[in-house]
Amino acid sequence: MATVSNTFDLVVIGGGPGGYSAALYAASAGLQVALVEKDALGGTCLNRGCIPAKAFLETAAVKRHVEHSADFGILSSAPTVDFATTQARKQKIVDGLVGGIAAMCKGRKVEVFNGSGSLGPDHAVTVAMADGSSATITGNHVILAAGSVPRLIPGFERGGPIMTSDEVLDIDYVPNRVAVIGGGAIGCEFASTFADLGSEVTILEALPKILPGLDKDVANVVVRSFKKKKIDIRTGVPVTGHRPRDKGGTVVTFGDNEELKVDVVIVSVGRRPFADALGLEGTGVVVSQRGFVEVDEFCRTGEPGVYAIGDLIDTPQLAHVGYAEAILAVKQALGESPMPVQYDRVPWAIYCHPEVAWAGPSEEEAKEAGYEVVVAKHPFRANSRAQILGETDGLAKIIAEVGSDGRPGRILGVHMVGPWVTEQLSGGYLAVNWEATVDEVAEFIQPHPSLTELFGETVLTLTGRNFNG
Ligand SMILES: Cc1cc2nc3c(=O)[nH]c(=O)nc-3n(C[C@H](O)[C@H](O)[C@H](O)COP(=O)(O)OP(=O)(O)OC[C@H]3O[C@@H](n4cnc5c(N)ncnc54)[C@H](O)[C@@H]3O)c2cc1C
Repeated sequence: MATVSNTFDLVVIGGGPGGYSAALYAASAGLQVALVEKDALGGTCLNRGCIPAKAFLETAAVKRHVEHSADFGILSSAPTVDFATTQARKQKIVDGLVGGIAAMCKGRKVEVFNGSGSLGPDHAVTVAMADGSSATITGNHVILAAGSVPRLIPGFERGGPIMTSDEVLDIDYVPNRVAVIGGGAIGCEFASTFADLGSEVTILEALPKILPGLDKDVANVVVRSFKKKKIDIRTGVPVTGHRPRDKGGTVVTFGDNEELKVDVVIVSVGRRPFADALGLEGTGVVVSQRGFVEVDEFCRTGEPGVYAIGDLIDTPQLAHVGYAEAILAVKQALGESPMPVQYDRVPWAIYCHPEVAWAGPSEEEAKEAGYEVVVAKHPFRANSRAQILGETDGLAKIIAEVGSDGRPGRILGVHMVGPWVTEQLSGGYLAVNWEATVDEVAEFIQPHPSLTELFGETVLTLTGRNFNG
């Protein structure tokens, strides 16, 4: 067994969005970096998360467009789905992006170790390499970015019809009947995808509503649109078990002894941090009872010079939050004094149809936090571009703080649901994070005709005047 020994400015364990962005950002700042990844570069996001899930959603969108093409004067036959092509297309996108990260690491001289890394005392990282050899590398600084894995429910072990996001993103067919357990962001993306592709979809959610973190008005639009897609949304119904059927599929039991016959069950009840293979004996790094690596607001663990970022810590489980935390940690390794991430103002995006995007508190959260607020809402149905697209479900909603003069002042939250809102949030995100006032943002000119005019119009309304009532 070969043993190599090396010292780096920075050793990163985990090559997902948190880890690869930390490695690339550090290398761009001139640090000598090692990146340890036990599986594929890109982590959950590229291989089993954001990217493949959005590729599936795009296929669903194409099918919707073809179904409605006659409305635009384009006559075609009813679309049929060849999901093996969808799967191959998704994999090509994933492979290209993963290859791109490998190439960028090479270009920036980031040394990639293909193995499982565990941290011991004195910043020493032992890598059990995929080829059976081992390496011990040391970092002046170490970033833990081991990410997360799907949570499971007892009695719903993976295999056959029981899938998590990991398995469902590898299928090459559209199941006829799908139960999605869990009505959070990921569950709703899968429900939307398969309903649009023609599956009979039921969401089984133990809580009283789906998408519980959303602003009420926004969530209502999603629920209405899901009902139009014939998604059966069952809330307040914990699942109790399932009985696999000889002919394939399974019968899920839930709620008050109710039963549901399905071909596939997608268990989508959240993700747990994956500190399992990190070692950590003899270090000051603490793992909480819930499995998260404990950090302060600067992502510093209890071991000096060791940071933890991404899904491994108890902050919003979003790829771009991992990127922000990577920059925060690397800047400290560079001896700089960065500001902590403002977690209550990060951008959120859900890519179901209709899409959802927001930054800052919902109306309910802002009121609970003690703000006196004023709210404006405008529907997409009044927006010319939305009508041209034929996508008029949705709205923009802005929550502003009442200023000392009694007029709408600082913009606290921007919440949107509708066509391409994940691409439209940046103006709202900037307003919230710049702590801009309604009067300041109302000066911004939006291009016409555009979907973002709805954001502009909603801000204008808060000034007390507007164009479209
Ligand atoms: C279906 C789905 C859809 C999603 N959609 C979105 C979305 O649209 N937008 C969004 O922002 N987020 C989305 N997410 C969440 C996003 O994928 C995660 O927040 C993000 O991947 C977290 O990045 P990370 O680097 O912390 O961890 P991960 O991406 O989980 O990467 C961790 C990496 O560390 C490796 N690793 C673990 N332990 C070790 C070890 N000891 N040694 C070496 N390597 C190790 C793992 O193999 C993995 O590659 C989605 C997730 C799922 C499941």
